[in-house]
Amino acid sequence: MLDGDALLDLYQRGRAGDALDRAALLGRAAAGAGAETLPLGELDRRIWALRARLVAETGGPAGDEAVCTCPACGARLEFALPADFAPPPAVAQTVVVDWQGETHVLRLPRLADFGPQGLRLQALGAAPWHDPGFAALAAEALQAADPALGLTLAMDCPECGAALAEGFDPAAWLWAEIEDKARRLLSEVVRLARAFGWSERDILAMPPARRALYLAEVAP
Ligand SMILES: [Zn+2]
Repeated sequence: MLDGDALLDLYQRGRAGDALDRAALLGRAAAGAGAETLPLGELDRRIWALRARLVAETGGPAGDEAVCTCPACGARLEFALPADFAPPPAVAQTVVVDWQGETHVLRLPRLADFGPQGLRLQALGAAPWHDPGFAALAAEALQAADPALGLTLAMDCPECGAALAEGFDPAAWLWAEIEDKARRLLSEVVRLARAFGWSERDILAMPPARRALYLAEVAP
């Protein structure tokens, strides 16, 4: 699904963008052209599935580990996810929020709902979003409809014991995977090009097993 050329292309374009550009880029890699209009939770599930396929296909030590910083003591923590971890499925595509005698129907947010100022709340449904009470209730209802929205991973800091909630960001995990694999692939291309004078295109067109045979013949 992601050949060497596609992987390097993603890496090159992802490095140039900000976090939102990168989420859109990885979303399209995972879900195709319709990525912008999929609910964000669904997009996260597809991105996570693409990452799982990438890990399964190419193996390697970069796996289910991530790092975060404890807000209480500042310790740098490494943590791992269970191998079968997956974001939970959606329960509903729309929610109904009753607020001050009126009923508001809202849909799940999508990537296309983001503008320069962030998420355009009115895109989810005409409602009194300016009212913090309504906005809090609506956010709670939307997250209940799709638990993958705003998913957090709970853990305890082994240094100070503080309870942490780390936001779960599948795009960041996939990006880390792509970065790792792209860097390794680049160094293979450089080694083979130096040793044999082959072009990038020729090297990337070679099956990985064949590439490994030649790499074994050249000094690291
Ligand atoms: Zn701590």
